[in-house]
Amino acid sequence: MLKILHRLVGITGKYKNRIRASYVTAFIKGVLMKVPFMLSFFVIELFMQDKMDKKLCLYFGIAMAASLVLEAIMEHITNVLQSATGYKVFADMRMRLGDHLRKLPMGYFTEGNIGKISAVLSTDMVFIEENCMGVLSELVSFIISQGLMILMMFFMDIRLGLVSLVFVAAFIVVGNLMLKTTLRHSVIKQEDSESLTEEVLDFAEGIGIIKSYNMLGERSKRLTDEFEKSCRESIDFEVAYGPWARALYLLFGLGVSVMLLVSGLLYTNGIITPAYMVGMALFLFDLFVSIKSYYGQMARLTVTAASLDRIEEVFAAKELADTGKKTLPAAAAPDRAEIEYDNVTFGYTDKPVLRNVSFMVKSGEMTALVGPSGGGKSTIASLLARFWDVGSGRVLLRGEDIRNVPLGSLMDQISMVFQRVYLFQDTVYNNIAIGRPDATREEVEEAAKKARCYDFIMQLPEGFDTVIGEGGASLSGGEKQRISIARCILKDAPIVILDEATASVDADNERAIQEAISELCRNKTLLVIAHRLKTIKDADQILVISGGEIKERGDHEELLRLNGTYAHMVTLQAS
Ligand code: ADP
Repeated sequence: MLKILHRLVGITGKYKNRIRASYVTAFIKGVLMKVPFMLSFFVIELFMQDKMDKKLCLYFGIAMAASLVLEAIMEHITNVLQSATGYKVFADMRMRLGDHLRKLPMGYFTEGNIGKISAVLSTDMVFIEENCMGVLSELVSFIISQGLMILMMFFMDIRLGLVSLVFVAAFIVVGNLMLKTTLRHSVIKQEDSESLTEEVLDFAEGIGIIKSYNMLGERSKRLTDEFEKSCRESIDFEVAYGPWARALYLLFGLGVSVMLLVSGLLYTNGIITPAYMVGMALFLFDLFVSIKSYYGQMARLTVTAASLDRIEEVFAAKELADTGKKTLPAAAAPDRAEIEYDNVTFGYTDKPVLRNVSFMVKSGEMTALVGPSGGGKSTIASLLARFWDVGSGRVLLRGEDIRNVPLGSLMDQISMVFQRVYLFQDTVYNNIAIGRPDATREEVEEAAKKARCYDFIMQLPEGFDTVIGEGGASLSGGEKQRISIARCILKDAPIVILDEATASVDADNERAIQEAISELCRNKTLLVIAHRLKTIKDADQILVISGGEIKERGDHEELLRLNGTYAHMVTLQAS
C-alpha cells in the first residue's frame, strides 16, 4: 500500500506539499473520529460509579460537540486539499501528455497504441482523478482510528487487546489475498478495455469500407466478441473477488462475536467492571469497521496501480530527441545542396527498409521519387520531416544534420501534402489558418484563392466560417485536398513534400488540384512522391526507388536513354 501511496504522491508534482498537508489533517481527523467513543466510555464509567454530576455532564457534552465540529472541519480541509489537487494534477498531466505525444515518432501511433492512449485519457486518468486522491486521506484516517481502537482495547484489558490484534491480523491476511485477486483481474480488465477501445475505433473509422464490402456481419462479430470478452472478464472478476469480500465480512461478524464473548466472560469473572462491559458493547461494532472500509478502498487503489502502470507506460515511450540547438542558415552555402541524404539506412523494425540512400536536392529544384509500391518512397520523405530518425547516415538540411536543429524550426521549413487529408472539425478558416496562425484574414483568403478553393468556400452556408463536419465529411475529396493545399500555401515553407494523389477525382477537380499544386510549388524545393509519370517529366532529378535502394537516377531523358526500370514504367503507363 505504501508503494501505491508513494506513487500517487509522486505524480502530484508541484502539488506534493498540499497532499502532504492533507495527510496531517487526515491524521487529526482520524484521532478526532475516536474521541466521542473514548468520551462515552468515561461517561459510562462515571455513571456506573455514580460520580457524574451536571457540570461534568456539560463538559463532556461540550467536548463531544467540539470534537465532532473539529472532525468536520478537518474532513473539509482534507477534501479540499486532496480532491481539488487531484483535478489540478490531472489537468497538468493531460497537458504534459499532449506535449509528450507531440514529440513521439509517428511510428508510435501506428503500432496499435491509439487504443492505449484513448484508454489512458478516458479511463485511467479519470478513474484516478475521481477516486483516488480522496482515498489517500480516507486511508490515513482509517489506519489511525484503527490503531487507536486497538490501543483502547489494551487499555480496557490486555486479553481484549490481544484478541482484537489476532482478528486484525486475520483481516490483513484475507484482505491481502483479496487484493491480489483484484490486482490480477484488474490488469486483465484494463487490457480488455484497451483492445475493446481499439476495436470500436477501428469499426467507427472503417465503417465506410465495412459497409461497401458488406463486412458488417463479420466486423460486428469481432466487435461483439470483444464486448462479450469484456463482459465475461467483468463477471470473472466479481466471481473471484466476491468470495474474499464475503470472507472479510464473515470475519468481521466473527470478530465482533468473539470479542463480545471474551468481554462477557471477563465480566462474569469479575475481571472487568459493568462500565467496561457496556462500553465494549458500544465500541464493538465500530471496532473492525474501519479495517473493512480500508480494504474496500484498497481494492480501488489496486485498480489504481494498474492504471498508473499504463499512464507511466505511455509517458515512457521514447520521444524523438529534440535537443538540437543549431540555427538553420537562411540559404544553403553555394557548394551545398538544400537537402542531402548521406548514406541513409533505416528500418521500422530490425529489417532495413532503406539501404545506403544518398542524393542531393538543390534549392528550388524538383526531385521525384518513383518506383514500385513498398519500395521506400514515403519512408524517404518522412525521414526529412523527422517522423522517424535515420538508423545510420545523415539527412542534412542546408548542410546541417536535421537532428541538430530544433524540431520546431525544421517543421517551419517544410510543408507536406499527404494523400490522406485530414481536416479538423472546425471552421474552414481555422483549418487553413493552421498553416500560419498569425496570418491575417486577407492572407488566409488569398491562400484559398491560390489553392482554387475560394469559390466553393464562398458557396458554403457561412463561407469561411462554415464548420466542416467530422474529418471534413461534408466536402468532396478534391475540395478537402485543396483546403489542405491552401494550408500549405499560407505556411509558405521553402520545402514542399508532395505525396501525389492517386485517388481518382473528377477531371474538374483534378485540374483545380493541379493548379493549386503549381501555386504551392512555385519557387520551392520539391520532393515529390510520384505515381503518374507525366507530371514529373520536367523534374530536375528522378530517383527510381525499389527494394529500399536507389536503382536509377537522372532526368527524364537520361532515364529513358538508360532503358531500365523507369523507361519500362513509362512504356507501361503510356499503354
Ligand atoms: P512506398 O512509399 O514506396 O510505397 P513505403 O516507404 O511506404 O513505400 O514502404 C517501404 C516499406 O516499409 C514497405 O515494406 C512497408 O511495408 C514498410 N513500412 C512502411 N511504413 C511502415 C510502418 N509505419 N511500420 C512498419 N513498416 C512500414
